[in-house]
Amino acid sequence: MPGAREQADFLNAVCAVDTKLSPEELLTACLAIETKCGRTRTPDSRWESRTLDLDILLYGNISLSSGNLTIPHGRIAGRNFVLVPLAEIRPDLHIPAPIDTSVQYLLNQCPDTGALHLVSSRASLLGDEII
Ligand code: ATP
Ligand code: CA
Ligand code: CA
Repeated sequence: MPGAREQADFLNAVCAVDTKLSPEELLTACLAIETKCGRTRTPDSRWESRTLDLDILLYGNISLSSGNLTIPHGRIAGRNFVLVPLAEIRPDLHIPAPIDTSVQYLLNQCPDTGALHLVSSRASLLGDEII
């Protein structure tokens, strides 16, 4: 059982999408999907388990920081649960400023030692579970 400030285990995944939405429109769409999937936001729920959390890690080679949206995602460099699945699909992808390096390089430098368990590889997702 997790303690008061610990989160339970969570399932994490990274996907690449083509979209005609602007970054702000994409964020609005992600927040709407979270709500449809039963997520409720309260001031106290930041570190609680959620039904769904959709973050925009990257948007092409764009860097931006507005009041409600930062791209590349502000904590991408310090999370191995993000970098490991991202490196599975795009290890050579360039992450723009202020990071300005490749996904694989960032993963090699990542100080996060949190335990990860591979639930399903990309190949088995494509072969067995999605199609
Ligand atoms: P973290 O950002 O550390 O992963 P979180 O995903 O739990 O935390 P949320 O409560 O889901 O944080 O989101 C808080 C706000 O972060 C969102 O309402 C959104 O405006 C903002 N935000 C800023 N940059 C991004 C981004 N790249 N992707 C998604 N949300 C973002
Ligand atoms: Ca998040
Ligand atoms: Ca989020």
